[in-house]
Amino acid sequence: MSGKNVTDMVLADAAGIARAARILESGGLVAVPTETVYGLAARADSAEAVAKIYAAKGRPDFNPLIVHVRDAVQAKRYADFSPEAIALAEAHWPGPLTLVVPRRAEAGLAQAVTAGLPTIALRAPAHPVMRALLAAVDFPLAAPSANRSGFISPTSAAHVLASLDGRIDLVLDGGITTAGVESTIVAVRADGSIEELRPGPLQIGTRGNAKQIEAPGQLASHYAPGKPVRLNADRAEADEFLIGFGTVGGDCTLSASGDVTEAAARLYACLHEAARAPKPRIAVAPVPEDGVGRAINDRLKRAAA
Ligand code: AMP
Ligand code: MG
Repeated sequence: MSGKNVTDMVLADAAGIARAARILESGGLVAVPTETVYGLAARADSAEAVAKIYAAKGRPDFNPLIVHVRDAVQAKRYADFSPEAIALAEAHWPGPLTLVVPRRAEAGLAQAVTAGLPTIALRAPAHPVMRALLAAVDFPLAAPSANRSGFISPTSAAHVLASLDGRIDLVLDGGITTAGVESTIVAVRADGSIEELRPGPLQIGTRGNAKQIEAPGQLASHYAPGKPVRLNADRAEADEFLIGFGTVGGDCTLSASGDVTEAAARLYACLHEAARAPKPRIAVAPVPEDGVGRAINDRLKRAAA
């Protein structure tokens, strides 16, 4: 990036977190690191603040947001938790698991957060900066990924500014995120069945029939780098930027040792680099479906769509 940014970026130390908390209290937007990607946070109990998220991202209003909470105690104010949902929260929170559960109508959250659905997506994140922020305010935080809608998710503060500079109030710089891909989303149904809506860093055993994905944000085209993407490439054509994996070495390599966890952490950084590169097309080496590899391939398919 060259020149001065319009949006302030501050270190995510105690002073930075205190400043972020004041901005959120007054209804502003703050980008904040989580263990998955950087989120664009606003107070979830304010319709005006939540509307600013949709406007800053250019996000379609039918695409609901994940509400971030400190823990299951806070989450239960906003949703009805079945025994199955409680068990999942106890096993995986704080962590990269989002639970879609029946919304409590009297919860006092902005309607736009759930895009009119009878359910709500809730997550207690593990990242120390997001946790400190949630502890500093007395409302939950609606937070989608901190990027313009449809484009590559941010895994660094610089990625956030490249996409949203001048459209948000503050970026808390907490370094590079570690999980790299967005949270696993599962819906917990009234009959106790668990359905995966989005693959992510955590693998959850699901029961019940996997029907058509209903998460409105699971659009076919997403994470778009702005140029054609060719998947399962063993080598690059002359005009392609190659994203490598394992034995396929690339211009940017997800993991030379073939480690899917490392690859997930580097996925969006490589896509950002490929988007900026002079080559007009992108090729990506095959990534196995093991573990978080499923989430990587899900995001790559959408980037290529
Ligand atoms: P993002 O915040 O960009 O990671 O996107 C949030 C994801 O959660 C999107 O795919 C949404 O469609 C999904 N989501 C949020 N709330 C719900 C809900 N109540 N039911 C189903 N999916 C949801
Ligand atoms: Mg997103």
